[in-house]
Amino acid sequence: VGRKEKTEIAISERTNIVFDYKAAFENSVEQVRSEGRYRVFADLKRVRGQFPQAVRRREDGSEQDVVIWCSNDYLGMGQHPVVLKAMQDEIDAVGAGAGGTRNISGTTRSAVDLEAELADWHQKEAALLFTSGYVGNEATLSTLQKILPGLITFSDALNHASMIAGIRQGGGERHIFKHNDLAHLEALLAAAPAGAPKLVAFESVYSMDGDIADLAGTIALARKYGAMTYLDEVHAVGLYGETGAGVAERDGVLDQIDIIECTLGKAIGVMGGYIAADAVIIDAVRSWASGFIFTTSLPPALTAGALASVRHLKTHPELREQHQERAATLKARFAAAGIPVMDSESHIVPVHVGDPVHCKMISDMLLDEYGVYVQPINYPTVPKGTERLRFTPSPNHTDEMMDHVVQAMDRLFAHCNVARRSVAA
Ligand code: PMP
Repeated sequence: VGRKEKTEIAISERTNIVFDYKAAFENSVEQVRSEGRYRVFADLKRVRGQFPQAVRRREDGSEQDVVIWCSNDYLGMGQHPVVLKAMQDEIDAVGAGAGGTRNISGTTRSAVDLEAELADWHQKEAALLFTSGYVGNEATLSTLQKILPGLITFSDALNHASMIAGIRQGGGERHIFKHNDLAHLEALLAAAPAGAPKLVAFESVYSMDGDIADLAGTIALARKYGAMTYLDEVHAVGLYGETGAGVAERDGVLDQIDIIECTLGKAIGVMGGYIAADAVIIDAVRSWASGFIFTTSLPPALTAGALASVRHLKTHPELREQHQERAATLKARFAAAGIPVMDSESHIVPVHVGDPVHCKMISDMLLDEYGVYVQPINYPTVPKGTERLRFTPSPNHTDEMMDHVVQAMDRLFAHCNVARRSVAA
């Protein structure tokens, strides 16, 4: 029997005995569908050296050329020759998998070298790799509560799902402060016992609105109340600061953030996550975090690719300048056409649509009729009434591509009769 048939038999056999498993699975999908949250993935084949162009396979098997406008490979490093060569060379030299967890034969040379490079980048004593940024946040934030008994975590209301998961998993006391609201954070800090260990967990660039936290202000409060700071720079690393170490570098506060958490999967263009901190913090997390200890380490080709990418990013500030220029140009072009760009301080260009039906409709028509691929961002990722399209232009997005996308948006906003007023996030 084929795999599908086997599953059906297994499900129906159990069904007769106790519980309608199949219906439960179907109902759970139906619930997502009825809430307008059912996801359909675009099947894309990226073409080597052609980013942001790709080939999409439609459901009927036919193919269509598209331009990707929602990639988090912000600088196109996932296609950069320096990164590709490093990955290929590493496969040729050492093979495919790491062969084990870090403790059991899986500590590869390129992982060790990458951790040293990352620590240096963030001006920290040490760094620690994880399978992904998600795992890095979840493992570290939960483990800090084991290491620091009674830890009280203060978390920004818009923190990423992986931070929330880690904080909840730790099981300790936690307080949510209103997004980027330092007065609220201070009120919560002031109300907590003075002697208790505390952690303020926040992000630099928030990826859905594109706003940037007040790092210096948050650090000052944390210091005033004796709290440690944990900063997710997933959407900033590679993109801000003189060498690309993130907003903490740009703002001159690298030495004042206790733990910096990043991904290797966005501007660095590969996959994986890491934290950078004092050696004693890294040593403790390394020793206690299940999400680090009990999993096979990253393949050497990934860590070698990431290492080449980081070294390249450190010494190529022009990539960051081009990236900022492209984002500013797209914002200005949309605004000139009356397309409501939300008030973003960063490279992220969110366009306000304001309801889920039009948001999905415009996104579908952009893809089907114009070959413009941008995902709709709907509730619960963003609040109801703020549904949006989130554009992420890279240095590889040309003026012609921008002409095309502005024209397409102009026509579709008219077609769907969506308001064109300017909107502040
Ligand atoms: N933090 C933030 C703020 C994110 O947006 C994401 C992913 N979108 C992550 C962490 C997780 O990173 P990764 O994709 O490497 O798992």
